[in-house]
Amino acid sequence: MIRMKQYSVSLRSGSSGNSTFVRTESAGIAIDCGLNGRQFALALQSIGESPSALDALLLTHEHTDHCSGLGVVLRRHHIPLFLTEKTYQAVRTELGRVADSLIHLIEPGKPFAVKETIITPFSTPHDAVDSVGFRIETGCGDIGIATDLGHFSETVRQSLTGCRVVHLESNYDPHMLETGSYPRFLKRRIAGPSGHLSNEEAALAASWLVRHGAEAIVLSHLSQENNLPELALRVVTDYLGHEGAKAGRDYVIHVSPRYACSRLFFFHDPFVCGVSGVSEPSAGEQLSLFSRERAAGEEGAF
Ligand SMILES: [Zn+2]
Ligand SMILES: [Zn+2]
Repeated sequence: MIRMKQYSVSLRSGSSGNSTFVRTESAGIAIDCGLNGRQFALALQSIGESPSALDALLLTHEHTDHCSGLGVVLRRHHIPLFLTEKTYQAVRTELGRVADSLIHLIEPGKPFAVKETIITPFSTPHDAVDSVGFRIETGCGDIGIATDLGHFSETVRQSLTGCRVVHLESNYDPHMLETGSYPRFLKRRIAGPSGHLSNEEAALAASWLVRHGAEAIVLSHLSQENNLPELALRVVTDYLGHEGAKAGRDYVIHVSPRYACSRLFFFHDPFVCGVSGVSEPSAGEQLSLFSRERAAGEEGAF
């Protein structure tokens, strides 16, 4: 049987705008739309997709870097939008006129379906009205979207257990934040339990995720002011290395670029070849993952 390719890709990532795309066996799904309508369409076209063929847009929360292009894209392409009731109330004015029939209200912890794809939203600790992340099931394993996290909470942990690919926030370097130009109240907000995840916190989270089934970690939502891609990558890979997990052997890691698409993270079914290991961002490049069978066989190796 020939299956459609299934993959996830970051279209844009960082405080200047966020959007992720997931292709499952049955659906094309975008998570967040923090870029304008034209950029969104061009980003999708660059990976052979189209906004008019999207089956759903999922919104994590109401902050502008996640929803600035949402209203235009919904109106232009008539895409169903899935979001919590509180988030809907928070973005309603900014969305402008969107047909009620496109709005689908969801609740954290309650799975819903887009075509045959099951998606579970889960609460994330962040200073928004009802912030969520998503676990998206594919025929070859699950994908987790977890950015805008003040800390790696028990709920987030449980919700991501066993995901093969996780788009994980690695927002800031504590020293750069502390010595940077942000006002003190903003520094406190970012570093607080409802703000964002530091590189060190992302390293701890990545270690836990790799021990619990993750084969690819996609470092995401890096701060432009308070982080550097090579620094985030080094902090996370050094920590995992210290824990005995080697990039390229035990897991794949990648930093999502700010203004370009990331690599495509393909699920190959049923068997898989290799991994690329630590890598610099490279738009459109394909990446193979370990098979589930092999990952399961290696569990506990580190
Ligand atoms: Zn946010
Ligand atoms: Zn954000």
